[in-house]
Amino acid sequence: MENCIFCKIAAGEIPSAKVYEDEEILVFKDINPLAKIHLLCVPKEHFRTVAELDGERAALLGRALRKIGALAPAWGLGSGYRLVINQGENAGQTVPHLHIHILGGETLSWEK
Ligand code: 5GP
Ligand code: ZN
Repeated sequence: MENCIFCKIAAGEIPSAKVYEDEEILVFKDINPLAKIHLLCVPKEHFRTVAELDGERAALLGRALRKIGALAPAWGLGSGYRLVINQGENAGQTVPHLHIHILGGETLSWEK
């Protein structure tokens, strides 16, 4: 997808602080962290929201969640973390390429 910042990061055209990469996902540090640890898990395939999931994309997201679960302790998140997927305008989604926020490294408050 042209002009998509996460497609460019996934393609290595824009640098990022990667913590994990395989053939279908990339995990890197958020440039504007909202918690002591704030990572983004991005599928390399471009799609915007869960409304665009088909069976293969749903399976991909399932594999991404399993990776996060397996690797979170190694990322310093062994005491817990929060996963957030902003969907569209009201949620404040600013990058129209589906991504999972991974927040932790401290006790997180819970506000709307
Ligand atoms: P959204 O608001 O769409 O749920 O989340 C987008 C996230 O991407 C934001 O937390 C923002 O800080 C992060 N972000 C935007 N541009 C870049 C970038 O170029 N590099 C990195 N590492 N994070 C970015
Ligand atoms: Zn994209």
